[in-house]
Amino acid sequence: KSGFIAIIGRPNVGKSTFMNQMIGEKIAIMSDKAQTTRNRVQGVLTTDDAQFVFIDTPGIHKPKHRLGDFMVKIAEDTLNEVDAVLLMVNAEEGYGKGDQYILDRLQQVTSPVFLIINKTDLIESDQLLQLIENYKDKYLFEAIIPISALTGHNLPQMQDELKKRI
Ligand code: GDP
Ligand code: MG
Repeated sequence: KSGFIAIIGRPNVGKSTFMNQMIGEKIAIMSDKAQTTRNRVQGVLTTDDAQFVFIDTPGIHKPKHRLGDFMVKIAEDTLNEVDAVLLMVNAEEGYGKGDQYILDRLQQVTSPVFLIINKTDLIESDQLLQLIENYKDKYLFEAIIPISALTGHNLPQMQDELKKRI
């Protein structure tokens, strides 16, 4: 099993913390030439039975100017070329205006989209259930996976889920 996975999400939702937890010391050093503005390799996760390449896809968020529109187009193309998209949100912030914009953009994307609800250590379980219900109504996710990138909670289960569905 192998695949390319794009991680998207607003600043501070925990993308870098998540990458460090998943890959840690094993972060691959990629040459600068391999890095483009369309997608930057963040790291490669190699396990006994799978290899995932995580890429960062800047520019999918609400554009503030014309160049922004162009960047959004590029980001959408990238999201169609990967094997899976992980949309990460902050459990504590819940569903917001910015999320609707990104979910609208994702309607054009053909790759499976997983919703990763991060920072679940900061909320109660009934709040989490409510949040999951809200998101279910907004978009047809391949799966909704709650995690805590900080504590590592549910990360092994998340890896299993990705292996099963990619
Ligand atoms: P990024 O901008 O999406 O890359 O977010 P970062 O990984 O830099 O995280 C932003 C802040 O959120 C940092 O202070 C992290 O320590 C914190 N953070 C990330 N994941 C979690 C989590 O699961 N739980 C809690 N409580 N804090 C987290
Ligand atoms: Mg970061």
